[in-house]
Amino acid sequence: MTGTTSADATDTHCPYCALQCGMRLRRTGRDGPGGPAVEVDERPGFPVNRGALCGKGRSAAAVLAPHLRLTEPLVRDRRTGLLRPAGWDEALDRAADGLAGTAARHGRDAVGVFGGGGLTNEKAYLLGKFARVALRTPHIDYNGRFCMASAAAGQRAAFGLDRGLPFPLEDVARTGCLVIAGGNPADTMPPALRHLRAQREAGGRLIVVDPRRTRTAEDADLHLRPAPGTDQALALALLHLVIAEGRVDEAFVAARTTGYARARAAAMAHWPERAERITGVPVTAMRRAVEMFCDAPSGMVLTARGSEQHSKGTDTVGAWINLCLATGRAGRPYSGYGCLTGQGNGQGGREHGQKADQLPGYRSITDPAARAHVARVWGVDPDSLPGPGRSAYELLDSLGTDGGVRALLLMGSNPVVSAPHASHVTERLRALDHLVVCDVVRSETAELADVVLPTAQWAEEDGTMTNLEGRVILRQAALDPPPGVRTDLHVLRALAARLGHTTGFPDAAGEVFEELRAASAGGQADYAGISYDRIRAGDGVFWPCPDAGHPGTPRLFLDRFATPDGRARFADVSYRPAAEEPDARYPLRLTTGRVLAQYQSGAQTRRTPELERAAPGPFVELHPRLAARLGVADGDPLTVTSRRGRVTAPAVVTGAIRPDTVFMPFHWPGPGRANTLTNPALDPVSRMPEFKVCAVRVERAGGP
Ligand code: SF4
Repeated sequence: MTGTTSADATDTHCPYCALQCGMRLRRTGRDGPGGPAVEVDERPGFPVNRGALCGKGRSAAAVLAPHLRLTEPLVRDRRTGLLRPAGWDEALDRAADGLAGTAARHGRDAVGVFGGGGLTNEKAYLLGKFARVALRTPHIDYNGRFCMASAAAGQRAAFGLDRGLPFPLEDVARTGCLVIAGGNPADTMPPALRHLRAQREAGGRLIVVDPRRTRTAEDADLHLRPAPGTDQALALALLHLVIAEGRVDEAFVAARTTGYARARAAAMAHWPERAERITGVPVTAMRRAVEMFCDAPSGMVLTARGSEQHSKGTDTVGAWINLCLATGRAGRPYSGYGCLTGQGNGQGGREHGQKADQLPGYRSITDPAARAHVARVWGVDPDSLPGPGRSAYELLDSLGTDGGVRALLLMGSNPVVSAPHASHVTERLRALDHLVVCDVVRSETAELADVVLPTAQWAEEDGTMTNLEGRVILRQAALDPPPGVRTDLHVLRALAARLGHTTGFPDAAGEVFEELRAASAGGQADYAGISYDRIRAGDGVFWPCPDAGHPGTPRLFLDRFATPDGRARFADVSYRPAAEEPDARYPLRLTTGRVLAQYQSGAQTRRTPELERAAPGPFVELHPRLAARLGVADGDPLTVTSRRGRVTAPAVVTGAIRPDTVFMPFHWPGPGRANTLTNPALDPVSRMPEFKVCAVRVERAGGP
């Protein structure tokens, strides 16, 4: 049961990842100059994490302290060129004037909006409305495009609908064989391990696909270690073996799918021996994986960024889904494909109109009926709504260019650290005529802004989030924001008013949610039957939930898939290599990822003393054989060079990484910023950049 609120305790959820663990915030005394006197407590009843929290969640109260965050607006002084404190009226006037002035000089398409996967549903919804109604620009997208866009595109193509997990996380504990491809929940979402452990205790098997021997992989029955960028070859070869060994669920394929013949032909043309040469995974290990997956009474494949963040991520997800469909592991209890979403509201963030091609309710922005419905809710002419805009990286790449976006409102994102080819993105941000940043902390991106607006955070405002399961939960305000800080919803209302829209932009979260319900009604992500009271009365509500009497939908696709004919569609996938393969100049592969004690661009976690002590800076993991060849020992400074730049960080010599691959975490700015190196080559469907593999050269720093 959720929703406890008393004088000294409030049930709420973690500010970080997509698990959205339940927690209780408890008042411990009188607030002092160091910040509010609150502590994070367990909340055992919430089924996703059953009381467990990782270090990030346990320490989440630290960043509520005023000295770690922004508590007054900043504007860039025209005389000194430096950011200086300002009052809210001056800052909002300056922000709105810059947006309106750019539109007047260069047209509405010269103004853009960039959102975040950590924003609540209410903020994501109002930000989308602000872009399309107040600014009337098509150019709005969000950093969730960098998170799970390929999984979303792959699911949508196969099932007609994308929801991170089409089943509750608890179902993982009941599956016979679980494949985790390119994910490391032991470090990214440790409380999820409770469900994995329960699965193993019940006799289930675990296969992990990852080039690194992660803590998740160490616990697996079978660890397959493909070279970064080659998961697709592995998934195709597994399907080849399933077919060759007569393990296709022919009855399921005939009754519930379409497109098998082409998928079969593509897989049969992809020999496992070829896949072994591409991936480095022995055919014997592939056969073992097929045996384990097909012998189990049920099976799941869960992908994460390792499989998805590629210029062919959508096809790779399609190849994993094909494996599920051919073996009858989809649309059945304790079976199916799912995605371990990364960001706190990566799921909800894209359901409500924060994505360049979508309107609220997961509606396509090019669908006339969808436009008419949303325009009716918004009280505007459907023809006044812009069409699709640029995807996240394309938007950032256009900044400050002729024909590109010249004024940007950025909310809850830190692309200076988190975007691919980050040095280029930083240059583009500097080239803007006008940059407005709304954030909790003075992030690296805020440092480039003309106006910085300090906003409230998770424990200081109400708002819903939709976790990786499609479960809509409620974060409840437990305390007031510090003086000088306002909510993102207030900022949008104030900016809209200055742009001439004095109505239509409420700043009370509950009021925005009521409008969001109406806008989503009848769409795929239908929230019409969800209310704050219903969420409080239970453990959240799963969408779709079309009316107040509907129980919500924890499990999708059990009767039919969400395609017009109700059948799942096989993807037509043939192997293609990464956009950048190793060569004589750049002979190694770089892959990037997260560490246990940091989160995304680190804007909050790098300011949390206990997390910063646990993970104080970037590093380069390399294999002992590679280290010996380079004459490098543990801790030695290394330079890593790609076609886009060079970074420096200390070596961590470990047998956990392949000899042909190096790994860097991406949480830090400065000389060790991993995203200086990463490749912005985009997936043609999802527009996901290729974060997870590029070609690099590694040397001892200061060497020849
Ligand atoms: Fe927060 Fe994610 Fe850790 Fe849970 S697993 S406590 S949601 S960071």
